[in-house]
Amino acid sequence: MLKGKVAIVTGSTSGIGLGIARELAKLGANIVLNGFGDSSEIEKIRSGIDGENGVRVEYDGADVSDGDAVRRMIEATIGRFGRLDILVNNAGIQFTAPVEEFPPAKWKAILDINLSAAFHGIASAVPQMKKQRWGRIINIASAHGLVASTHKAAYVAAKHGLVGLTKVVGLETAGSGITCNAVCPGWVRTPLVEKQIDDIAAEKGISRKEATGELLAEKQPSLDFASPEQLGGTVAFLCSAVADQITGTTISVDGGWTAQ
Ligand code: NAD
Repeated sequence: MLKGKVAIVTGSTSGIGLGIARELAKLGANIVLNGFGDSSEIEKIRSGIDGENGVRVEYDGADVSDGDAVRRMIEATIGRFGRLDILVNNAGIQFTAPVEEFPPAKWKAILDINLSAAFHGIASAVPQMKKQRWGRIINIASAHGLVASTHKAAYVAAKHGLVGLTKVVGLETAGSGITCNAVCPGWVRTPLVEKQIDDIAAEKGISRKEATGELLAEKQPSLDFASPEQLGGTVAFLCSAVADQITGTTISVDGGWTAQ
């Protein structure tokens, strides 16, 4: 379905981004991986996806907290592959604290990585996608792009901002062959969430298993996690021809979180 297409997935050395990269490669897309981690682990991931799917997989270590680095990654990809078809803005971080104690440096880092990186990536990718008269921009927002929780001022602000950006870009590119949508996951079991499970267990003096149950019961009515593979499948759907008229909107994969 995506044979010959080129996809950049930011933050794809772990978790949801890796699930998305794997799914797009299975469908034939060439992939640019991005994110932090141990270089031999990253090379194992890169060659694994390459070998399993017979697609070209490259790694770009851009730190997406730097807008210029994001723009350079987009330009370098277009330079090396001659095209760019799919941009998945997925890299993200979390930090929790009451608003009056929220460290300004954490606020800035979350806004830079979870929101501004998508702006820089989109701004650089759209001209090439317009030339090709086809493009898919998929922003990995969150249930927290639609509703709030306590102690997540920066994250909720950034993710709501990302949903707003998605709407604007959906409007600005409508009719050009480009679509721009946001995927809003609820809890997905990744390192980002493991840390929050650890925090609940430590704070309440309960086991990790009990903390996991509490985390799910508080927000996610299905009482189960969504998986990186399911998020990959959602992104693949948005890249398919049946989604040509879906733009400027959100798709929740949240076990009922935001239906409440
Ligand atoms: P994760 O911690 O497993 O992966 C985050 C990825 O982003 C990693 O590859 C990391 O190296 C990369 N990254 C972090 N900072 C970066 C930077 N400055 N430059 C480049 N790469 C950077 O987290 P995840 O749970 O897979 O999260 C992926 C996205 O999904 C995030 O945007 C997150 O907000 C969103 N999300 C996650 C959940 C969840 O429950 N896990 C729920 C809703 C939304």
